[in-house]
Amino acid sequence: MASKRQIWVGDVPIGGGAPVVVQSMTKTETANKQATIDQINRMHEAGCEIVRCAVPRDDDVVALKEIIAVSPVPIIADIHFNHTLALKAIDAGAHAIRLNPGNIGGADKVAEVVARAKEKGVPMRIGVNSGSLPKHLHELEKKNSVEALVTAATEFVALMESLDYEDFKVSIKSTNVPNTIASNRLLSEKIDYPLHLGITESGTKWSGSLKSSVGLGTLLADGIGDTIRISLSTFHAEEEVKVAWEILKALQLREKGPVLIACPTCGRLQFDMDTVVAEIEQRLEAYEEPIEVAVLGCAVNGIGEAAAADFGIAGAKNEGVIFAQGKALRKVPTPQLVDQLFVEIDKSLERGGEVEFDEAQSAEGMEFIRKIEEENAGDLTPEKLAALEAEKANEGEDITAGLAELPQVKVQLDESISPQAGRRFARN
Ligand code: SF4
Repeated sequence: MASKRQIWVGDVPIGGGAPVVVQSMTKTETANKQATIDQINRMHEAGCEIVRCAVPRDDDVVALKEIIAVSPVPIIADIHFNHTLALKAIDAGAHAIRLNPGNIGGADKVAEVVARAKEKGVPMRIGVNSGSLPKHLHELEKKNSVEALVTAATEFVALMESLDYEDFKVSIKSTNVPNTIASNRLLSEKIDYPLHLGITESGTKWSGSLKSSVGLGTLLADGIGDTIRISLSTFHAEEEVKVAWEILKALQLREKGPVLIACPTCGRLQFDMDTVVAEIEQRLEAYEEPIEVAVLGCAVNGIGEAAAADFGIAGAKNEGVIFAQGKALRKVPTPQLVDQLFVEIDKSLERGGEVEFDEAQSAEGMEFIRKIEEENAGDLTPEKLAALEAEKANEGEDITAGLAELPQVKVQLDESISPQAGRRFARN
């Protein structure tokens, strides 16, 4: 179940129906004030709403106070083992404390931190990690790690409640995706405090993003989770923020900036779409409006599945079409497609989202698309195959019959990022 309670970290509400919050953690030494502030600013620019900083030494607490004073987002102090650092971080103005009650030196030390947090109105995140469960749960962990994680979390919750403190959120983190999903599902049935989600040490930008998308995406789609952090092995913390936003946008839980749709390309592609997509993606970063922009590698399917996009391009060898809301705006020479697409986007945004069609140019564009469609009417494109499969599946037919006769697409992966070999275009 979704959390019922709400806490506030600085001016950010968490849980109780508030939007899922994007968090991340700085990778700099906190004592290095300028580097940490610079990183926080970059994270903030990427959309990070709460930042956690590691506070393992006294120097870090000293820096923390100055960092908090200039940070554009609330700061959580991440404390392990040393409860006096938690006390100092609260005094330094931390907006929240992240604490693992199992490694802070006993219930009396936890109570001391809680007393200070209550006095200053500071919330906490109490975290349980698969690698650091309390000793008395080690046997249970061997038999049933999910139950051990949830037991540890509920014991910590009981400890907090026994201290008359309810201003906290809870996290269970594991490197294991199925365990993270199962334990958070179970925990969400037992407590109604906000939950923070993450996959610990999930890996590189590639593998970590995928693991996080699967693990966190599954939980978020169930309505479980109030804040998320994507942990990636990169020193660019803003990358974690971007991945977090893509997960939330994909699930339509939050809106932030444009959504890019791009076809996967196939053997029908006749222009350098990889570069075009990369350029459009980069230029869209400057926009805050949640516009949907589609990039189609050809016009063989007409505007097809991209008809609902606010704007799009369908490319071809020499000319392509810019379209909006399912209708051609105009035909453009392929090298100008990207620039002209942004001209149209900007014009529309200046008019509050309205698109102005020049009927003659639009008709010329639609005619161009119609001709390409007609010339390729018999071509079984991925999009036509998907539509055909859906139709046949609805009729209860064997949708795999005849697949062997379909045109084969040759793929050669001998160039590292964007292979051109074997494709119909040559990059300039
Ligand atoms: S047929 Fe579909 S996948 Fe292939 S280039 Fe055209 S739009 Fe892209």
